[in-house]
Amino acid sequence: MDWDAIGDAAVSALAEYLRIDTTNPPGNEARGAEFLGSLLRGEGISFQLLETAPGRSSLLARLRGSGEEKPLVLLNHIDVVPASPDNWSFHPFSGEIADGFVWGRGALDMKGMGIMELYAFMALAREGVPLRRDVVFLAVADEEAGGYFGVKALLEGQLGGLDAGVVINEGGYATTDLVPGRPFFMIASAEKYGYWLRLLRHGVGGHGSMPTGQGALERMVPALARLLEKRRPMHINPTMLAFFSRLAEHWDILAPFRESGDPVALMRIIEDNNLAALPALGAVLRDTVSLNMLNAGVKINVIPDRAEAFLDCRLLPETEGEEFLSYIKDALADPEMEVDVFMDMERAPASPHTGPLFDAIAETVGRVYPEAVVSPFMLSGLSDSRFFRARGVPCYGIIPARLGLADLARIHGVDERIAVQDIKEGTRFLFELVVAICGA
Ligand SMILES: [Zn+2]
Repeated sequence: MDWDAIGDAAVSALAEYLRIDTTNPPGNEARGAEFLGSLLRGEGISFQLLETAPGRSSLLARLRGSGEEKPLVLLNHIDVVPASPDNWSFHPFSGEIADGFVWGRGALDMKGMGIMELYAFMALAREGVPLRRDVVFLAVADEEAGGYFGVKALLEGQLGGLDAGVVINEGGYATTDLVPGRPFFMIASAEKYGYWLRLLRHGVGGHGSMPTGQGALERMVPALARLLEKRRPMHINPTMLAFFSRLAEHWDILAPFRESGDPVALMRIIEDNNLAALPALGAVLRDTVSLNMLNAGVKINVIPDRAEAFLDCRLLPETEGEEFLSYIKDALADPEMEVDVFMDMERAPASPHTGPLFDAIAETVGRVYPEAVVSPFMLSGLSDSRFFRARGVPCYGIIPARLGLADLARIHGVDERIAVQDIKEGTRFLFELVVAICGA
């Protein structure tokens, strides 16, 4: 395998892919799908374009295996979040290659990974690697707006018979800040789920010069204050326990837990050192509530008779929605508050972080990146993996890019970029990973 040549081709393909504006909304993923299709066509590989709405296409290509085991899906999304060129070093849709990076919206999230998956897939085809499972390359629309024109629609429709055995997707990455000098590969084997609530409180309207204490906002605000003052109990689930066990091998602060392996000792360390105050860590240790929208009032001298609040709640995979809802109602302590679940995202069980699939990932990481540490992780955000996990398909999220904490702000932020080196090594990593999981 000429990995240098494959890597160079992947880098220039990514630059070109980034120039196709697939900002969602509206998405226009069809243009991205056609570009990926043109690369497959160049290799003589056939593919299907799957349209869920005008302009909203996904692409599927398949390498046939012996069928001994269910297919592996290399999943990626074509759409990106909006980017305004202000403050960017290069225009976000210019696909600039400079300073050892490919720059542009989607470089990390997740056109870069899509290209790595595609070049690994095409290399498998070219080599004619014998496979015991089909390998499916699946580039989808609409991940950034919930997957309703992408994975969700496809699994409920055109891809209802896909019958995947394992999915490789985004979700994790290799952080360079957790253990000095060693990339820490966080493999997302679980994720929290969104549980979005709408609160509505009616009250007595009137003239602002004569407050009654019964206005809608006057009732809404204290109830919200009661809720926001509370925290859900900390719960370290098996995924995060495994994560902390790996971290404990390198962090002296975790020594008492390293020695005992006792989750109670771990919780004490987290509390004593206020580690849950770090938003990224706090988010994976408990259910969270974020008050993000409040609508009420039309004029400064009019008491509103109606107030509405929206809560972005993110629940651990172990939390039951109904139990959480009664917690919310108790915490609000206002029987006249209407509480509606207006979006219950797919709650999905964690994928196993022990066993042959996870071991294959860990071994492949170790082979391609000898200095790496590998750990399972739970994502606090959402990915398309939830639709597969809810159907019982194990999913693993890993973008093989080495990122410092400061780089994370580039995802959905300014100056998103991916290292040329990461694309080259990542393509080889994904190739080796597919061989490890699917090779005959
Ligand atoms: Zn993404």
